[in-house]
Amino acid sequence: MNLKILGNNGPYPAPGGACSGYLLSSDSGDTRILIDCGTGVLARLMDEGGPASLDAVLLSHLHYDHMSDMLPMQYALQFNPRPRPLPVYAPEQPAAVSALLEAPCFDLWPAEDVAIGEMRVSFTPARHPVPTNAIAVECDGARFVFTGDSNQDPLVELFCEGASLLLADCGLSSADYRPAAPHYSARLCGELARSAHAKRLLLTHLNPKYDPKALLDEAREVYPAAEIAVPGEVYYI
Ligand SMILES: [Zn+2]
Ligand SMILES: [Zn+2]
Repeated sequence: MNLKILGNNGPYPAPGGACSGYLLSSDSGDTRILIDCGTGVLARLMDEGGPASLDAVLLSHLHYDHMSDMLPMQYALQFNPRPRPLPVYAPEQPAAVSALLEAPCFDLWPAEDVAIGEMRVSFTPARHPVPTNAIAVECDGARFVFTGDSNQDPLVELFCEGASLLLADCGLSSADYRPAAPHYSARLCGELARSAHAKRLLLTHLNPKYDPKALLDEAREVYPAAEIAVPGEVYYI
């Protein structure tokens, strides 16, 4: 399968940037899912065939930087209807945000393990202030894992084991990191990839207040092959 980065910022976009949004396609191209749909992601998705071309959307959690463009997506689907509503897998809390997704163009499902076309999708709870899942997708003999937003958690670490590609929440610098923070630090992303024996590590959820190169340097101290998830780039998994 392959992964295209549509946005790599959080919790707000850098100038010209976009928040969390990742397009996964099977090698055959027959299965395409969007993981997260934060600020600025819809415009980039429109370049990739738009929401009508998707088999499903998976939302790691209902913070705005991961779901806000699901709101105008409803208008995009009104003007470009699909034969059937678009399946959306997401946590059911916070209820007030979940209610914003109750639209005729969406088919809402709880975040439970599911087969979508050629892809097998699984979820595990991450450590974050609202219900949040790490997400794994297996397809074409590879295993992709996205941490969602999380801080250190034994379940997430187990879930990442053996990832062909690990996309990790790099929301904090080591200097700003606290054990009770809602995000990993860059260095902890490196430690996670190393301890989980991930074959490849991409750092995402980059806060525009940081220099991405500084975050990358921190992660590379423990996982030398770490890379920044670059918007517009395609990664073969
Ligand atoms: Zn976030
Ligand atoms: Zn969050």
